[in-house]
This record gives sequence, C-alpha cells and structure tokens, in this order.
Amino acid sequence: MSVPIVRTVAELRTVVAGWRRSGASVAVVPTMGALHEGHLSLVRAALQQADQVIVTLFVNPKQFNSAADLTAYPRTENQDAAKLVPLGAHLLYVPDAEEMYPAGFATTVSVAAIGESLCGAFRPGHFDGVATVVAKLFLQTGADFAFFGEKDFQQLQLVRRMVKDLDIPTTVVACPTVREVDGLALSSRNVRLSPAERAIAPKLASVLVETAERLARGGPLLATLAEARAATLAAGYREVEYLELRGEADLQPMTSVDRPARLLVAAWLGDTRLIDNVTTSPIGSTN
Ligand code: AMP
Repeated sequence: MSVPIVRTVAELRTVVAGWRRSGASVAVVPTMGALHEGHLSLVRAALQQADQVIVTLFVNPKQFNSAADLTAYPRTENQDAAKLVPLGAHLLYVPDAEEMYPAGFATTVSVAAIGESLCGAFRPGHFDGVATVVAKLFLQTGADFAFFGEKDFQQLQLVRRMVKDLDIPTTVVACPTVREVDGLALSSRNVRLSPAERAIAPKLASVLVETAERLARGGPLLATLAEARAATLAAGYREVEYLELRGEADLQPMTSVDRPARLLVAAWLGDTRLIDNVTTSPIGSTN
C-alpha cells in the first residue's frame, strides 16, 4: 500500500477535479515534511472532516531567511509517505521549487501587522514566504478545509487574516499543539538537538505554563515576563528573542490578562531556534 504522489499543479488539478465530480469535499494539510505526530494529528483531524485529504510536502525556500537553515532542514519524503499510509491520507502533493516558483515568478502575498511582529521581526521575509505559498496551495488544491497547528500560532492567525482579506473560500481549522511527555512541543527541528540540549528543551514549555498561570492570577505583567525570560536563560537557553503576551485573536500587545491571550516565545538552544505558545485567560473567565 502507498499514498499516490503528484508533483505538478496539472496532475493535482486532475485528481481534485475527479473528486469534485463525485461530490467529495477536500481538505489540505500543508507541511514541510519530516512528519511527526504533530503533523499526523492534523491529518487525522482532516480525515474526520473531509472526504478526501491532500497532504503537501514542500520545504518552501521563500520562508527561510537563513540559507544554512534551509540546507539543514530535514528531507524525508519516503518515510513521510510511509507514515501516511496507515492513516489513509488520499494524496501526497510534493512540488519542487521550480513547480511552485517557475522562472519569472514575481508575486508576494504580505499580511501587514500580524506578519511584522514576534517571529516576523526576527525573521525578515518569513511570513511573506508563508502567506505566498499558503495562498498558492489553497488555489492549487481548491480545498474546502485547511488544517494548521497551534504550535505555529502566529502563522495560524496570519493565514486566517489572509483568507478573510482575500475572500479565499477555504475554512481554516486549528489543531492543538502535540507535545512529548515532558512537555516539549514536537517540531521537525528537534532532531537537531544534542542529548544535553534535548534534556534542557522542555523547560521552555514549563516556563510558559507557569508564567501563564501567574499572569492569569493577576501577576504583574512586566516583572513576570522578565522572570520568565531569566528562567529560560538560567535553564541553558542561549537567547530569548521574545517572550510576550498578546491578544489571542489579533496578536496585539496586552498590558494585563483582561481577555483571552497567548503567551508566545522564541528562544535559541545552541544553534536551534525553538518556538512555543500557550493560551491564558483571566481566572474566572469562561473563555
Ligand atoms: P511544518 O512542517 O513545521 O511547517 O508544520 C506543518 C503544520 O504542522 C503546521 O500547521 C504546524 O503548525 C503543524 N505542527 C507542527 N508541529 C506541530 C505540533 N507539535 N503540534 C501540532 N501541529 C504541529
């Protein structure tokens, strides 16, 4: 058994047109491959929702702002395809860079505000690359539903904004972050961690959870965030790019937990950049 693979827009459109003729609904799960349980949870959710599920594997050069990071990114197509068989995914779409960005390609999709802060401030061009490729994947697949992980919370909100602004008829569905038993959020980049770094890594999630609880109880914002950054560094992280509280829906800065919020972090552990986030709401809130 294997999952059929298509590599061109034309082949993809032919398969989807056949599904459409039989009245099937279609979901897409965009990924950069090196599939882990986080990705597979999205595929399972998509299979619950739609008749036909397309998983895309594309290491998108436009969203890498470091050539070294792009080169080092794991590429494991055969293993990825094997992982999708028992789930029952219907199609794997694996375009190469020339198929996605043929000679003369000149269009960029850019989402202001949401794309400029947090990761956007530290990774220039990253979210333009994300928005551009996700818009293309939505148009290429014509999917009714698209599944994204909360692990990349800023990306999720950026895609939601783009879909709204451009009237793209694809419903974005968010899935919770899948974690290791010690709390570390699953990520394709975790394989780069040395054993010593891997032992330190889960501290990021535990700092977030503790900080979210303190803020929800009304802890002072600036001092609590400063302590969280210090605790992350004390655990062995090399640098904290940001550790901030933002509004859940708009990702705007907040001065206290007076409405549903997200605590988001990006930090370097050795040469590996990890991101994570947790939700927090005022104590007593029903949200
Ligand atoms: P990536 O391949 O890292 O670009 O991720 C592809 C999709 O999988 C994105 O929607 C991510 O948010 C999602 N994803 C990555 N890691 C996790 C995780 N640990 N839990 C849930 N979703 C995830």
